[in-house]
Amino acid sequence: MPEQITFLRRVIDFLIPRKCPACGRRLPISDKVICSECYFNLPRTNFHISPEDSFIVRKYSKMIPVVRVASFFYYATKSESSRIILQMKYFGKWSFAEYISRLYTYEIKDSGFFEGIDVIVPVPLTKKREKERGYNQSYHIALGISEATGIPIITDAIRRVVFTESQTRKSKEERQTNVADAFRLVSSAGIEGKHVLLVDDVITTGATIFSCAGELLKGGVKCFSILSLAHTRHL
Ligand SMILES: [Zn+2]
Repeated sequence: MPEQITFLRRVIDFLIPRKCPACGRRLPISDKVICSECYFNLPRTNFHISPEDSFIVRKYSKMIPVVRVASFFYYATKSESSRIILQMKYFGKWSFAEYISRLYTYEIKDSGFFEGIDVIVPVPLTKKREKERGYNQSYHIALGISEATGIPIITDAIRRVVFTESQTRKSKEERQTNVADAFRLVSSAGIEGKHVLLVDDVITTGATIFSCAGELLKGGVKCFSILSLAHTRHL
């Protein structure tokens, strides 16, 4: 049933106009977080249709047991999709992450992508970075997935120990060396023998995910699937 738009909400929307994070235009009152036009025009990867055949699976499956990969949309610099990521990472819009990942999860749920997945582990930030930002956007992406699937989230299995600059601003080689050895296993409780869904905001080379998965394997993880909101095209 469509949500009723109350008089009070109309007044608030008039006084404090909301903006679409993708196009920057004023949001119609019926749209919650992103305008319908931007939502439908997002450059979807459709990886979930053949999630066993992604770039990440082909690149890393000999080294880590990776089962499936899904990403919502392609990331391109200065595009609508990149604005969504920038807003959720640098402008405090953590609620976008949660809302958009929940929409995406509902979109792909019937494909069977989440079948057999036991727990969700968001890629952590260093404590210093999380304190500066006030939140970890990957955790909020994980929250949206968890709300739509009921799969629990584990945040205390692994921590990030190396402070890295923004991955999206670095060259391919820099990104790979930058994240090698960036994570430490803290606890294997809840991940041992499990199929873990690793969640990140953007996948560029896959180096971050690979490094994180490599460390989690020490805790006895059975296998991984991977979900990101964005994925670069140049792979
Ligand atoms: Zn828009």
